[in-house]
Amino acid sequence: MKISELFMAKKVIFSFEVFPPKKGGPIDTIYETLEGLCPLHPDFISVTYGAGGNAADRSTLQIASLIKKRYGIEPLAHLTCVNSTRQQVINTLGELKSEGIENILALRGDINPDIPLRTDFRYASELIQTVRSAGDFHISAACYPEGHAESATLEEDVLHLREKVEAGASHLITQLFFDNTDFYHFRELARRKGIQVPIEAGIMPVVNKRQIERMVSMCGASLPKPLVKLLSRYGSDAAALREAGIAYATQQIIDLLGNAVQGIHLYTMNNPEVAKKVAASVGDIIRCENERHG
Ligand code: FAD
Repeated sequence: MKISELFMAKKVIFSFEVFPPKKGGPIDTIYETLEGLCPLHPDFISVTYGAGGNAADRSTLQIASLIKKRYGIEPLAHLTCVNSTRQQVINTLGELKSEGIENILALRGDINPDIPLRTDFRYASELIQTVRSAGDFHISAACYPEGHAESATLEEDVLHLREKVEAGASHLITQLFFDNTDFYHFRELARRKGIQVPIEAGIMPVVNKRQIERMVSMCGASLPKPLVKLLSRYGSDAAALREAGIAYATQQIIDLLGNAVQGIHLYTMNNPEVAKKVAASVGDIIRCENERHG
């Protein structure tokens, strides 16, 4: 099923992101992750594509296929283009299609100074055009409530986001953010600029101080004062931070649900226990929102 059809059927979508095990690491760890996540019945599960955009990385395809065939859940396969030739992308699309994968999150990928840049694709909008002409895929794209790190202004980034939608993206997932006012401001600007496709909010429960500091330094998201306070108070006590981080994410989600968010995409960091706690706290609220819709 295409993700665009899910958005037509439901008022609020609840989905997860997982990543493949590190190269050379045991593949079995992903089975444990999926065994924990799938019984939570997410609407779809997205699978990241090797950071740096390694076109030879087949694990995304294998995991997406497993999610669909073994667990009967819709997968969303991430695909980056910055280090790929057009032919490599076309081959990957062929493989995805033959595995029955219908949904692709089309990304440029981060520019890695250690990997020589290819010139076939400069921006995600160009990849979206190629995916669109390759066949009958639903196409999702990334968006940034605080603006992408390379953009001079949020407005400039939103204008490029519109190019992705015009090229064929029919669903957007945000970068993680910790202050909902950033999301509301971004969503309002996107709508004013004519972007009407569903925008799903990417939420990451903070359960590890070092991990979150590394993530925000990589993606440019900012940490609001209450979260900084929480990190400095509980950062050295794993159990306390976990509880506080889950509560913070839960509050963020409840506020978003009260403000007409169309989807929550949980960055699970392959941690089903955290996802379970969040799902237990917001599952009935999401159900209630969807029943009102029905
Ligand atoms: P683009 O949309 O191409 O934008 C990149 C920059 O170029 C932006 O600043 C944009 O404003 C600008 N731009 C766009 N078009 C033009 C134009 N015509 N002229 C001038 N400037 C332009 N990375 C991975 O490696 N693997 C993953 O699986 C992965 N999954 C992700 C999932 C989500 C939900 C998100 C939010 C990010 C993910 N990333 C992933 C990170 C992503 O690859 C980086 O953020 C990357 O730097 C930008 O990718 P993009 O597709 O948004 O690029």
